[in-house]
Amino acid sequence: YLFGRKKATEVAHVVWEQVIQKGDMVIDATCGNGNDTLAMLKMVMNDSVGCGGYVYAMDIQKDAIESTSSLLDQAVGSKEKECVKLFNICHSKMGEIVPENSRIRMVAFNLGYLPGGNKSIITVSDTTLAALKAAERILMPGGLISLVVYIGHPGGREELEVVEAFGSSLPVSDWVCCKFQMLNRPLAPVLVFMFKREN
Ligand code: SAM
Repeated sequence: YLFGRKKATEVAHVVWEQVIQKGDMVIDATCGNGNDTLAMLKMVMNDSVGCGGYVYAMDIQKDAIESTSSLLDQAVGSKEKECVKLFNICHSKMGEIVPENSRIRMVAFNLGYLPGGNKSIITVSDTTLAALKAAERILMPGGLISLVVYIGHPGGREELEVVEAFGSSLPVSDWVCCKFQMLNRPLAPVLVFMFKREN
């Protein structure tokens, strides 16, 4: 349920819960401090069969991979942690690390810079677009591309335009593409995009 969720990431998580099933394989394309990775892990984990599902989590910064790893150490046991595969790579290469013929239920992006980290390392339009195209190629029917987009930093608006143009170009016969906007947060404009593949 969307109301009562003040943060854009919480809004995104509510939608994820409607799509992700236990045992699924999902991708966190920008794992950062690991909060989204942990949320995904809880959604795919199937207690009765060990982990069941998998989260492929990636980030271009080594610090982010370490931060995600230590959050998981605190939050889950070592068996559950094995269901997260961490990769220090650019998300445009996501198609190279998932096993062939994988059924990927979701690819999630939380764009921008690492909170509390190096603010000069941010997602940029070119590689974000390449990663969106890779996500489109590997996503299963019924799957979801989720994006949280911030526009307050340099390059943010340009990246927003790329994301919007990508979603707008997906064929209406196969995709439902939506945008949520926090209208009454003018100082922290954040947008949430959901591109759901129907076929
Ligand atoms: N999802 C994270 C969380 O829950 O803590 C927050 C992600 S943060 C807003 C954005 C992340 O994207 C940063 O950690 C940054 O290093 C990463 N990033 C920037 N460019 C990237 C790229 N080309 N490929 C993968 N990650 C990238």
